[in-house]
Amino acid sequence: MDDVDVVIVGAGPTGLALAAELRLAGVACRVLERRSEEPNMTRAFAVHARTLELLDARGLAEEVLRRGIPVRSVAPLPGTALDLSIVPSQFPLVLMVPQSGTEQVLEKHAVEMGAEVARGVEVVGLTQDDDGVRLDVMGPDGPDTVRAKYVVGTDGAHSSVRRLAGVDFVGTQYATHILLADVRLTRPPGDTLFGAFTREGLVLFVPFGDGWFRAIAWDRTREKVPLDEPVTLEELRSAFQRIAGDDFGMGEPRWRTRFLSERRQARTYRVGRVFLAGDAAHVHSPVGGQGMNTGIQDAMNLGWKLAATLQGWAPPGLLDTYQEERHPIGALVLRMTDGLYRMVISRTRMGAASRRLAIRTLLNLPPAQRRIAGLLSGVGLHYGRPHGAHPWVGRRMPDVMGTDGRRVYEALREGRFVLVDSTGTVEGSEHVVPVQVPPRPGGPVSVLVRPDGYIAWATNEPDPGAVEAAVRQWCAPTLATRR
Ligand SMILES: Cc1cc2nc3c(=O)[nH]c(=O)nc-3n(C[C@H](O)[C@H](O)[C@H](O)COP(=O)(O)OP(=O)(O)OC[C@H]3O[C@@H](n4cnc5c(N)ncnc54)[C@H](O)[C@@H]3O)c2cc1C
Repeated sequence: MDDVDVVIVGAGPTGLALAAELRLAGVACRVLERRSEEPNMTRAFAVHARTLELLDARGLAEEVLRRGIPVRSVAPLPGTALDLSIVPSQFPLVLMVPQSGTEQVLEKHAVEMGAEVARGVEVVGLTQDDDGVRLDVMGPDGPDTVRAKYVVGTDGAHSSVRRLAGVDFVGTQYATHILLADVRLTRPPGDTLFGAFTREGLVLFVPFGDGWFRAIAWDRTREKVPLDEPVTLEELRSAFQRIAGDDFGMGEPRWRTRFLSERRQARTYRVGRVFLAGDAAHVHSPVGGQGMNTGIQDAMNLGWKLAATLQGWAPPGLLDTYQEERHPIGALVLRMTDGLYRMVISRTRMGAASRRLAIRTLLNLPPAQRRIAGLLSGVGLHYGRPHGAHPWVGRRMPDVMGTDGRRVYEALREGRFVLVDSTGTVEGSEHVVPVQVPPRPGGPVSVLVRPDGYIAWATNEPDPGAVEAAVRQWCAPTLATRR
């Protein structure tokens, strides 16, 4: 295979999102995927507000929204409700869409941007030196090698790249099997997103909008069943009857599986020229629907940084900030999903009762509601800020309307930095896309937004010299031409 700047291993949602980011920035990349024809085992269904915002920043949100069913309130416990209208986003909802649908949108976009996806190619070996990485691959025509300046392992929970790079995957496996199946129901539940749990476990139905439902069951009475034993319709019906009091007229599944989920995080997301992202870097309990969302957000964080480094305009140390920013987010998401898992699948009667009481109490408190909604939706997540930096630095940029009718997230679609300014003194340049906004009392007057929608720099004082210095620091340290 020919050499290429970046090889991405794995064409799941993380790898496809990363390929599109690199192409948007003008970087040559190739995705190697071991599956030839068969689709990725479709698992995720919840796309949260922050991911929808980032898809909007690439012009893809409408297409994903079109394929899904919006849910505007979730019930973490029967009798409770978390109203998602409190999420301060253009998308105050969680979208139910099969992972295959999200992947199709991402793949089409990546290929349209010029990404090369090579299927039937499995990575089996990896060595790196100061200048690049060599991958040994097994393809349709036998063994081959490819050399890249950087390699990103987006090859899922059992990542070969992670193993070949010698990175520990620290954590444990949960004890309770998860049964998944796609079924039709003769008596669908009234709620869009139906869930019930007891001491025996948790059951959920997620509608796909085409008459099919994803049935999910954590059945603690089935923990001793061998993992390779096929899931039967009777087993699923029994779990729903015992835990939800009804099997809703469930019919023969078109697809089913039984597996154990894990809670693990890679000790480091970078070894030299090799990076890890998505499930290769962190795996969660599916409760809370966070894995794919976190992976797509990893990709958005890493894409522009790799491009800046390869094109020679990256501020010093930029690539290290991938680990600094995304590893703590991965750890936070792991704590959150583990906490949710323990709340609903507690082993002891007392433990379950006290945890449920705690959620009910918390969900009645507006600050706690906002915090939980912010974490689940991803809108409340932010990166660290250097000492003395403006308080907005590291936060997500809200989607403000420009005076010319263009939103900030529309301006981000060029994949460049966006300068949001209310002083009326800023002009566009090769390095930044300007968005003029009306003055906002008490807020910053100029904000420099990174290509991934997070704030790099902001000021409350009108000062064209400071703006120019920030643009030079972030987008043009060597004044190199970016494309
Ligand atoms: C029951 C369940 C429900 C879930 N629900 C949600 C949800 O609602 N929301 C959410 O955000 N997440 C959810 N998740 C998690 C989500 O499915 C994963 O986080 C997501 O698939 C990770 O994407 P990825 O691209 O990182 O990895 P993957 O989707 O695992 O893709 C990895 C790809 O790499 C390829 N590959 C592997 N090894 C090699 C190799 N050596 N060479 C070449 N290619 C290779 C694989 O074939 C695969 O295509 C759920 C998970 C489960 C189990």
